[in-house]
Amino acid sequence: MGKKIQTVLITGGAGFLGSHLCEYFLGKGYRVIGVDNLITGCEANVRHLLRQKKFFFLRQDVSTPLRVKEKIHFVLHFASPASPPDYLKYPIETMKVGAFGTYEALSLAKDKGSVFFLASTSEVYGDPEVNPQPESYWGHVNSVGPRSVYDEAKRFAEALAMSYWREHRLDVKIARIFNTYGERMRPEDGRVIPNFISQAIQGKPLTVYGDGSQTRSYCYVGDLVEGIARLVHSSLHQPVNLGNPNEMTVLELAEMILKLTGARSKIIRRPLPIDDPKRRRPDIRLAKKFLHWTPKVALREGLSRTIAYFRSQTLGKKP
Ligand code: UDP
Repeated sequence: MGKKIQTVLITGGAGFLGSHLCEYFLGKGYRVIGVDNLITGCEANVRHLLRQKKFFFLRQDVSTPLRVKEKIHFVLHFASPASPPDYLKYPIETMKVGAFGTYEALSLAKDKGSVFFLASTSEVYGDPEVNPQPESYWGHVNSVGPRSVYDEAKRFAEALAMSYWREHRLDVKIARIFNTYGERMRPEDGRVIPNFISQAIQGKPLTVYGDGSQTRSYCYVGDLVEGIARLVHSSLHQPVNLGNPNEMTVLELAEMILKLTGARSKIIRRPLPIDDPKRRRPDIRLAKKFLHWTPKVALREGLSRTIAYFRSQTLGKKP
């Protein structure tokens, strides 16, 4: 007799990370239920999965109760607008999904006796005063600034998940995900990599916010999915940073994308968004030690794959 098939429910299943996770778990033989209200997710991200017998898609706002009859072994909570322009456009929805959505996902996991996985974020560190950021750093967040709708919602989500672990011994895992990029980001997502690639392949100027000296560290989606899968199956309960420590300035990124696309676009300056973090780099010692995980895909390689994906979308097919 074969092993019994296990079920994974992924909120935000039609989003950038959620859709890669649906694909990953289907590939490993799980039944997968993707839940998404499609405000920033796209049905197109999972259309190719709908033909698979073990994939189910539920269009629902996860801030409302999740009613599922069957046994669920893993609840992965990824639903949330995640790019700064998206969460500024949907501030209340972002707070609702971080608060009520997390509560509903935790309640479901508690009812079903599932493992619960929270997609948290490097934004819990705000504009950090220490670099790189270890998990032990408490952060530097403006609790009333425009970004707080995302930062504080995720901080609340972490606190709520930890309460379920302490109070109910719910098997909770928390990943603090740093900047991630790759196939299935929307061209209009608004984050720096989709913006620069779309601009470059359309021959438009690349919009650098501020003087471009602020830093980020970018992780390829395939590496991140591998880290998430390892954390899901681990016995860790404290938050774990997942990201690529390869830190660079926004200006360096713009130049790299110009080189890789062969575009002759100019670089233009735009105002720096309020509370834009000046630097960000994950300290991944915990993930290395306990998950034996380290990102493998170099930025150049990951960007080339992402550029090819963007070109394959209608955007790149202009005359
Ligand atoms: N950024 C930029 N030009 C853009 C989009 C973003 O210079 O067209 C900058 C942004 O100000 C930030 C960095 O790139 O310093 C990363 O921004 P992103 O929105 O990708 O994610 P964040 O790390 O701020 O959440």
